[in-house]
Amino acid sequence: MSVESIVQSTQIVLASRPDGAPTTDNFRLEAVNLPELTDGEVLIRIIYLSLDPYMRGRMSSAESYADPVEIGEVMVGGTVGQVINSRHQGFESGDYVLASAGWQSHAVVDGAHLRKLDPAVAPLSTSLGVLGMPGFTAYSGLLKIGQPQEGETVVVAAATGPVGSAVGQIAKRKGARAVGIAGGPEKCAYLRDELGFDAAVDHKAPDFVEQLRTAVPDGIDVYFENVGGEVAEAVLPLLNQYARVPVCGLIAHYNDATAPEGPDRLPGFLSRVLVKSLTIRGFIVSEFESMYGDFLRDVSGWIREGRFAYREDFVDGIENAPTAFIGLLEGKNFGKMLVRVAEES
Ligand code: NDP
Repeated sequence: MSVESIVQSTQIVLASRPDGAPTTDNFRLEAVNLPELTDGEVLIRIIYLSLDPYMRGRMSSAESYADPVEIGEVMVGGTVGQVINSRHQGFESGDYVLASAGWQSHAVVDGAHLRKLDPAVAPLSTSLGVLGMPGFTAYSGLLKIGQPQEGETVVVAAATGPVGSAVGQIAKRKGARAVGIAGGPEKCAYLRDELGFDAAVDHKAPDFVEQLRTAVPDGIDVYFENVGGEVAEAVLPLLNQYARVPVCGLIAHYNDATAPEGPDRLPGFLSRVLVKSLTIRGFIVSEFESMYGDFLRDVSGWIREGRFAYREDFVDGIENAPTAFIGLLEGKNFGKMLVRVAEES
């Protein structure tokens, strides 16, 4: 590669580990020269970066299902990019690809880990949301663990996000009643009016617990757990005999720096699991890989037929990723949170 062709990437690296809620000081903007391509590698410019709650876990060194980002490393993340230069036979300049390239403007990536995208099939950004990891999380977790039956009641929080909005709509397709929990009247109106949820409850309302009870007159058969915290506490007493709880996420606790104050609620919780014969099962979406084809076929079909809605929330510029991410943990996003790093063409 000649000096003229050296490509610089603008990157957001982890500057320090947060203690509690992350701040912009935990991130640092850097510009680095990318290395020359070797055989099998591809140079891409990044168009969309996905911001997801799991990234909070990667900022921490606590043991988890994936390794933490090290201090000084580029923040991890799913991206949609376009090939600038390729030394992999499966890709050529101009191709659109799905890559895990992280929070940066350009990247050299191993072609073996890329998936080609066709913008004629679906908008490119959807491969990070409704037709990507979050949509698949909803599809696999709900159908494999939640197993909603006709006439049952399914409850999900963070319901306007990419996971929750898909959970509610898939539950409806299975003939269940979908009840969404979200923060604020605007998000609740969207659940009822645009997504077709049967009821929506505002977890920020002072009478949230009563509103939730009223919204589930026959109790709850499936609680798709996205948040934990006060929402989970309100839901637990309403679970029916043999209810299923896919434990997908606990966003209300991701910024916890200390254990909650007593009293110890574990015995009460376990006794409810016992007495009501509850199934509580955690999962990480990657374990359901074998369902991926079914997911793409079903959800893309429903979108094409105009029977499945999704919403995206864009912020422009890689330099704004930290603030947008901090906002995501606070519920400031309305729909799938994406950074538009560059224009599509
Ligand atoms: P969202 O886009 O829905 O964003 C998170 C939302 O969580 C916020 O917008 C906010 O919505 C809500 N929220 C934040 N804090 C609280 C709180 N204290 N109480 C109630 N709600 C809160 O995120 P995703 O759809 O991408 O992800 C949803 C969940 O799924 C997350 O927990 C995530 O970690 C998990 N997940 C798990 C995967 C797995 O493999 N197990 C894979 C992908 C995601 P509002 O304003 O409505 O409160």
